[in-house]
Amino acid sequence: MAVDCIFCKIIDRDIPAKIIAENDDVLVIQDIAPKAPIHYLIIPKKHINDIPSIKDADICLAGSIFSMARDLAKKLPGSQAFRLLMNNGSDVGQSVYHLHCHFLSGKKMSDF
Ligand code: 5GP
Ligand code: ZN
Repeated sequence: MAVDCIFCKIIDRDIPAKIIAENDDVLVIQDIAPKAPIHYLIIPKKHINDIPSIKDADICLAGSIFSMARDLAKKLPGSQAFRLLMNNGSDVGQSVYHLHCHFLSGKKMSDF
């Protein structure tokens, strides 16, 4: 738990969020400002600021993110496509410094 981290507070249920799924390693919530009809955030429960801060001992969290994305995709209607996105650094749009992966689906996407 990091002081003043919004995602740590959501994980600890100190502030509310729409929870989509959860396991021992990650929490999935609905993004508060969705950029697609389905816009979830897959958030490791352990506080890690960003990708360069991931220690080798925690690299398995990347697998936890992928396996959760796979399980979320199974619940999508039909064979819908989805996009995973991680922003690293403010220049490319990272605004919350607690590692997270965007899960986007439900509309055609061609641009980056
Ligand atoms: P980033 O810009 O760091 O890649 O993504 C952060 C995401 O967190 C943004 O899409 C933003 O809308 C979302 N977000 C920020 N604060 C909250 C919050 O309090 N609750 C929820 N559910 N999402 C949030
Ligand atoms: Zn945090």
